[in-house]
Amino acid sequence: MAEPLLSVRDLCVDYVTDRGPVRAVDRVSFDLERGEILGVAGESGCGKSTVAQALLRILPPPAVISGGQALFEGRDLLALDEDELRELRWQRISMVFQSAMDALNPVIPVGEQIRDTLRAHRRVSNRAARARAGELLELVGIPPDLTDAYAHQLSGGMRQRLGIAIALALEPSLVILDEPTTALDVIVEREILGHIRTLQRQLGFAVLFITHDLARMLQVSDRVAVFYAARLAELGPAAEVRRAPRHPYTQGLLRAFPAVHGGTVELASIPGAPPSLGDPPPGCRFHPRCELAVERCRREEPELRRLAPGHSAACHLAE
Ligand code: SF4
Repeated sequence: MAEPLLSVRDLCVDYVTDRGPVRAVDRVSFDLERGEILGVAGESGCGKSTVAQALLRILPPPAVISGGQALFEGRDLLALDEDELRELRWQRISMVFQSAMDALNPVIPVGEQIRDTLRAHRRVSNRAARARAGELLELVGIPPDLTDAYAHQLSGGMRQRLGIAIALALEPSLVILDEPTTALDVIVEREILGHIRTLQRQLGFAVLFITHDLARMLQVSDRVAVFYAARLAELGPAAEVRRAPRHPYTQGLLRAFPAVHGGTVELASIPGAPPSLGDPPPGCRFHPRCELAVERCRREEPELRRLAPGHSAACHLAE
């Protein structure tokens, strides 16, 4: 079998505080195949964006990577030096941030911002850079005649698509999308996610798609990883997780979001709130909110275990 594009094993990230380290990502392991979309979901503060930042080694202090391995195209991202990382970032792995549309330079024309990205990493003539910028704008559905426009002259959706064009400029094999549509209305969000799916099929890059919207993620992704309180709760094919989620937390998340397709259903929120990562509960971290919890859940932490080919969950009662 071909090697995965990315293989993360036992990744740990700590926030160093005066009262000792707080573990924000705890022994997380997953693979990402070439050309696949892996959706990563969970509530705010569960560690999903921290994983992405750890992979690109752009964690803001006081966060530190405290363990694990992340093999990407055969090299451990966590062990590369700064020069090696600089070579790899954007060329092989790029990222669209939550607020990418607000990160554009307001006084530089949009086409020039794409050309700057190209020139920062490759030796290209002005003519080739201009042609490539036009191609990329067209690729993300922005009329190339807007190449000399400024960011404020574009709609929010167009600015976010421009962020995607810049992320694709150097043809990376992995694009990390961190809540790429959070600031957009649902119509524009749907349009952008459809566009990402089309581009991904056309260009063949893999995507790590981070979102708190499980329903939307299931619609877009091939496989999904659900995080809870710094740990992986469930990992499996999107269609299977949608049809038969194995972890009570995933089940709760699915009940809390309206289905994108299908009839009307009554929504129900998960009672309580995620635990403090500085003082997580013993046993299963979800037990204070889990209606299925039994005595064992309060004392023994469940490990992620395989329940079907490619489908795992960290729950004592998952069958
Ligand atoms: Fe609920 Fe127990 Fe499963 Fe945790 S291990 S999710 S508390 S049933």
